[in-house]
Amino acid sequence: MKILVINCGSSSLKYQLFDMNGEKVLAKGLVERIGIEGSRIKHTKTGLEAVTEETPIPDHKAGIKLVLEALLDKKHGVLSSLSELNAVGHRVVHAGEKFATSVKLDTKVMDALKECIPLAPLHNPANIMGIEAVSEALPKVPQVGVFDTAFHQTMPNTAFIYALPYGYYEKYGVRRYGFHGTSHYYVAHRAAEILGRPVEKLKIVTCHLGNGSSITAVDGGKSVDTSMGFTPLAGVPMGTRCGDIDPALVGFIAETEKLSFEDVDFLLNKKSGMLGLSGVSSDLRDIEEAAERGEPRSKLALQALAYGIKKYIGAYAAAMGGIDAVVFTAGIGENSVAVRAAACEGLEFMGIELDNARNAIRSKEAVVSTDSAKVKILVIPTDEELVIARDTKRLVG
Ligand code: AMP
Repeated sequence: MKILVINCGSSSLKYQLFDMNGEKVLAKGLVERIGIEGSRIKHTKTGLEAVTEETPIPDHKAGIKLVLEALLDKKHGVLSSLSELNAVGHRVVHAGEKFATSVKLDTKVMDALKECIPLAPLHNPANIMGIEAVSEALPKVPQVGVFDTAFHQTMPNTAFIYALPYGYYEKYGVRRYGFHGTSHYYVAHRAAEILGRPVEKLKIVTCHLGNGSSITAVDGGKSVDTSMGFTPLAGVPMGTRCGDIDPALVGFIAETEKLSFEDVDFLLNKKSGMLGLSGVSSDLRDIEEAAERGEPRSKLALQALAYGIKKYIGAYAAAMGGIDAVVFTAGIGENSVAVRAAACEGLEFMGIELDNARNAIRSKEAVVSTDSAKVKILVIPTDEELVIARDTKRLVG
């Protein structure tokens, strides 16, 4: 069974083609700058060098057409005919409270996703465009939607409700939704496999730390709380997003800096976080380098990030009444030896003990806690595409 996984952004489209027989990636690629000058496709057939073609790509429909051509290419392609394609799985950011699991896409589901556009005005329209472009190009191929929010639908209302007038929840769906659900699901289940214990018996804190970051309490395989909220702005400091702040600061900054609401929104989403604190970059590698040169604001940014992670680990251990494992994943979680070490430092009192020699790894699965540690610490590279491919296979049979 061959499954194409698609992750559409507003001006980009990532794809992977899986052979589910052995769960092998046959090809993958990225279409960038859709609708902008300099648009291109970078395609890699597994085992060969990547090929890049710069060509006008006015919209997602044209992007999908290029992807299908690349998959059929004589040298770099992996399909001899599109009829070999059994299904397409899409990453969709927001399904509100409508879907708690992945679903096969039909007109009813599409209507529900369109209703969720006010909850994710930047992401859902791009996801919908991708689905519609595939429907046009491959009208007979079944499609599945896998939602970033779905895994968090098991949160109890005590964890998802905000202490605002209750009517806002009823009228507008104002509540915590949480994101990166596919990644949290994958690493929590993989951690259980690595530890050789049933996920139903484990209390795990999963730390997805990338350009966007979220931390989730996974109790018995289910999300019971997560650091992102109504939007992906909440939680620990991120590349350019502020994470948790006092909400009164929105009005204070608008008034003192004479900024519009849109300007403050932009400031909190694009100019804050690690970039705002360090003044150097949103990229953790640059900040680590600057901190090593002795830049005090970069040092502070790293310490603030580690402190934020540590506080969530403690909070979620309290929320679950204990903790068996902490998992680090995504760009920073998989690669930053220093952030992992700083986040775990001082948590020995609750059984979290990092082994510094084991922790000196990047981008590979490992248990990095000491043998005697009560709480296991794991590094697990995330694989959201594989979860999408598996769910798609399950739903299309
Ligand atoms: P992601 O959004 O998951 O792609 O993660 C992006 C973040 O991971 C950026 O802040 C990168 O600087 C960070 N990252 C990637 N590789 C490394 C590395 N080798 N060391 C430290 N941070 C890294």
